[in-house]
Amino acid sequence: MFQELLVVTDNPGKKREYQALLASLPVPIRFPSDLGYRIDVREDGATYTENATHKARAGVQVSGLLSLADDSGLEVDALGGAPGVRSARYTPGTDADRIAALLVHLDGVPWERRTARFRCVIAIATPEGDLYTAEGTCEGFIATTPAGTGGFGYDPVFYLPEFGCTMAQLPPEVKNRISHRARAVQAALPILQQLLKRRR
Ligand code: IMP
Repeated sequence: MFQELLVVTDNPGKKREYQALLASLPVPIRFPSDLGYRIDVREDGATYTENATHKARAGVQVSGLLSLADDSGLEVDALGGAPGVRSARYTPGTDADRIAALLVHLDGVPWERRTARFRCVIAIATPEGDLYTAEGTCEGFIATTPAGTGGFGYDPVFYLPEFGCTMAQLPPEVKNRISHRARAVQAALPILQQLLKRRR
């Protein structure tokens, strides 16, 4: 009986988004800190899928609960896809430090070559050892200066031409409709609904 879903993250930005994105599920969402767990997983896999799987399985191991984890990142074409799977560790320091480093690396790169995408891979692990994955992407451009205070991470420099603003300038409900994470959740929801139906 899955009576709760553990979402294996303590990133405040991701937590806010998952609360909203998974609100339609018939079970409460829990985070490791809610249950007194510390789940420290080295995110040194070569792929998003590897890291997400590792985190979701660690969630099951610690809690015995159905567990969901994501690994996500920003892929900048002019940097050969960097920072990619290393987005959280691109430079030490804060999100603002990582944005500053990204803008230095893109200094002088013209607008048409500043294309980028956010990618999110979700892994869902069951206590029986089954594993499911789902993926979402969101395309945009890297702005030359940060703008906006919403979201987290690289959102202030991720410009969405169809909205004429950065991801950090979007209302949260719009980010939660069009983001890489929103799209990965859309793909994951039928899997979660099936798992929860089967086991209730
Ligand atoms: P991880 O998935 O915990 O390895 O971290 C992903 C990193 O990618 C975050 O620390 C952010 O820097 C970046 N990232 C992932 N998703 C987003 C997002 O929705 N907005 C902005 N940055 C993000």
